[in-house]
Formats: sequence, C-alpha cells, structure tokens
Amino acid sequence: MKQGMVYITGAGPGDEGLITVAGLKSIKNAQVLVYDRLAGAGLVAQAPEDCEKIYVGKESSNHTMTQDEINRLLYEKAKEGHIVTRLKGGDPYVFGRGGEEALYLEERGISYEVIPGITSGIGGLAYTGIPITHRDHASSFHIITGHLKDEDRELDWETLAKLKGTLVFYMGMAQLETIAQSLMEYGMDKTTPVALVQWATTFHQRSVTGNLENIMETAKKEKISSPVLIVVGKVVELKDKLNFFERKPLRGKRVLVTRARAQNSKLSERIRGLGGETVEFPMIHVEKSTDTPAFRTVLKQLGSYDWLVFTSQNGVEFFFDSLFENGFDVRKIGKAKIAVIGNATSDALKKYGIRADLIPEHFVAESLLTALSSQLKDTDQVLLLQAEGSRPVLKDGLEICCMVDSVDVYRTVRENAWEEGDLVDYLKNNRMDAITLTSSSTATYLWEALKGKEELLDGIPLISIGPVTSQTMKELGFPVAKEADPHNIDGLITALLEGVKA
Ligand code: SAH
Repeated sequence: MKQGMVYITGAGPGDEGLITVAGLKSIKNAQVLVYDRLAGAGLVAQAPEDCEKIYVGKESSNHTMTQDEINRLLYEKAKEGHIVTRLKGGDPYVFGRGGEEALYLEERGISYEVIPGITSGIGGLAYTGIPITHRDHASSFHIITGHLKDEDRELDWETLAKLKGTLVFYMGMAQLETIAQSLMEYGMDKTTPVALVQWATTFHQRSVTGNLENIMETAKKEKISSPVLIVVGKVVELKDKLNFFERKPLRGKRVLVTRARAQNSKLSERIRGLGGETVEFPMIHVEKSTDTPAFRTVLKQLGSYDWLVFTSQNGVEFFFDSLFENGFDVRKIGKAKIAVIGNATSDALKKYGIRADLIPEHFVAESLLTALSSQLKDTDQVLLLQAEGSRPVLKDGLEICCMVDSVDVYRTVRENAWEEGDLVDYLKNNRMDAITLTSSSTATYLWEALKGKEELLDGIPLISIGPVTSQTMKELGFPVAKEADPHNIDGLITALLEGVKA
C-alpha cells in the first residue's frame, strides 16, 4: 500500500501571514489536517475542501486528546496512505511536543518532515514592540517553560536570576507569581521590567508592562489570561516606542464582510492590514449568464460596435471568458472603444491587454452616462455588457443619443454556502463593530438572512459602498452610518475608519 507522509508544520504565532511558504503549501496539499488551539482558524480554512480536519484541542487544563492519542492518530492516518499535516502554533519544536511526534513516527518508519515556524516568543514580541535582543539592552535571550509541575524545584532560579539576557516564559500565566518571586529571591532587581503579551500577533493581542514587583497586581487588574508570554528584561522598555501593531487604527475591531467570496479577500486583507478582524458571510455569488441566444447574436455582430461598456470587473471577466469559450479572443472586439466604471474594472481589462478609453470621475452609472454621451454621435452603436437586472439608467440615457444594445453577461444570486440561521446565531453571540455592504443585493440578502431580527444590527455601524447601495439600505430600513466616496474599496476603507464603533 502507498505510504503516507506527515508534515509537522509550524503555523507561526497567530497572524496568518506569518506562516512560511512551505508551511502554507503543506496545508494546501493536506488530505488530513490535525490542528490545535493555537493554529489560526484562517489557516485551517486554507486546507482543501475534501481534507479531513481534526481538532485535537489543548487548553492547558482541558486536553481534548492526549499526546499518545495524537501520536497514534498521525501514525494511523499516514499508515493508511494519507498526506497528513500536523499544524501547531509557533514552531513545532518549541514546547510544542513536535519532537515527541517526530520520534514516534521515526520509530515506526513513517516518513515525515518538520516545517519550522516563527515561535511566539520571538515573533509575538516583535508585534509588541519588543526586540528580543538589542545592542544596548540584551545580548542573549532564553526561552523557558513556565509550566512547572514541581513549583520552584524544576528550574534553576539561581542561574536564571543572574542572566543578563531577555527571559521569555511560555505557558507561565498560572505561575506568574512564582516566577517573579523566585527571580527576585535569587537576586534579580525588583525593578526589572516585565511585559505580559496575550494572544500575540492576533486581532486580540493585548500587552501590559510593569516590573517584577508589581506585575502580578497589573495582571490581575487587567485580567490577563492565557495564552501569554512573560517577558523579563530591559528590552521591554522599548515597547512604548516600537509597538506598531497595537497602534493600528482598526485594532480590536471586528468587521462583517458581505461581498461575494471571490471578491472578499481583497477587502478582508485591507481590513486585516489595518489591524481589524474580518468575519465573512458572503451574501451573494455571481455566475456567468452568457449561454443565451441573445449573447450569441451579439457575438456575431461584435465587430460593428463603436463602444463597449463594462460596469464591473465581473462583467469584464465573464465577457472575455465567454469570448474564449466560443472560440474567439480579444481581437473579436474590433475597432470598439471601451468605457468602464471604476478602477477595478479597468484593472480587470488590463489583464486582457486592453486599456479603457473612458473612466468617468465618479464610479456610478450616471457619471459614465454624462461622460460618454458627450463623445457619442447619433450613428454610434454601443453595447452594454451588464449584470442581469441592472438599473436601466445607462440604457435609457444612451438611447437618447445613439443606438444601444445590451446583453447580460452575469447574474448575482444569493449565496447558500452557509446555513440559514448561522448569521443570526453569530450576531447573537459575538460583538460586531461594523458591517460593510458593497451592493444593493448584499443589503437585500442581509435583510433576508436576518429574517425579521433586524434588531441584531442595532448599534452596529453599516458602511455602504455608494449611493445606490445606500438607497436600497434606506428602503430596507437599514441606517447608513457612512457612505464610501469614491465608491470603491479605497473609499469603503476610509468610510469604515470613520464609521467604525469607537
Ligand atoms: N510552539 C509554540 C509554543 C507552544 S506552548 C511556539 O513556538 O510559540 C504554548 C504557549 O506558547 C502558550 O502558553 C503561550 O505562553 C505561548 N504562546 C503561543 N502563541 C502565543 C500567542 N499568540 N500569544 C501569546 N502566547 C503565545
């Protein structure tokens, strides 16, 4: 039988972007993914749909699966011939029991590879503004377990208290008092700076500072709980200056993103880049609608149009896809000039080697109509390539000055990738700091998904991409907290920054 393989992969400290290229590849190729609490949910979601995903837990007191059971699971899945990825927080060999898992597989003749990750004690500190070494403050660092079975006998406090380098204790929250007391007892200065970093590099990251003498009090007051890194040493003093991450404008904010999944990622990435967390409930997806006699007729006479008009990136992509599918390529558009709404639409065109001839200043149909009308002769033929059910503004307006055909190239349908009631449950159980709405249909489907429980949105700022979406929102009874201007992702991000809950 085909032998399987195990990748023991480090996920990095929390921020999904901090996994290695090799690590991410091992997730994308996994047939079985075995992961624990500190491996980010976003990374788990990168595994293929048909990959078997097994959560093996581990909150220090509440082990979901024992280490023996995990070892055996890895062994058995590999023995069955699967490609198994064992995803662990940070680096697999830093207090991650990765060594035990590798040995277990080695002894049983199972192939494995270890993919290192950024350990939280280094990467997590960087996101807190604490360089683990610094020429003026620390010329070594020491990573120490704070998971002490036999209180003070386990560690050589006398030696630790003498060290001049940075000390980082993992798994030490329950023993914070013992750690601070022991270091002072063995001679470390009670004013030595200490930082506690909770959920480092993630959206929940929090950090506090103090010194050996008062850190316990601060921890209690601030209710700091696991997972936490305890950092002892002079480098902690740099935190206030270098703490770039906790200064990000959307830090700690959770934003609901409702766009179609294919377009969500850009928006979500921008929000995460600003320190926010995104929760994706795509309300819509788009599908091609060119398998129609009308579209085939248009194809035949494509060379005769003077202008093609695209109102969205989807329109561009579905149109050129369909052109190819029908055995043609871009040359088929002949002499036609091209008008578009929005930068994203003109960028989509560039992928086909085409420059838009006209992009109106404002990204709405009315603005395009004004700009285009001034260039048209009454003998000109214009083709509108739009979504099913588009507003008639363009067609009606252009018909006054020239000949217009319009054909649907795609349609927007309600997304059904998540279960009914999921969103309601989510909003009941989680705080939400803003919701972005990027089209009339996302607003309409949001309303439908709430099923009469619109009160769940009370107090949550709703951010609209533009006037058309805002209008639909008003009709649905949704208050518009902010409207984007320009009506694109840049504008939406600006509106979000202004409108997000304080
Ligand atoms: N292999 C991991 C460590 C696993 S032990 C690594 O290399 O980072 C678990 C301990 O790691 C936690 O108790 C906590 O002390 C620390 N830890 C891991 N990720 C953390 C994070 N994002 N924020 C704070 N502490 C973290």
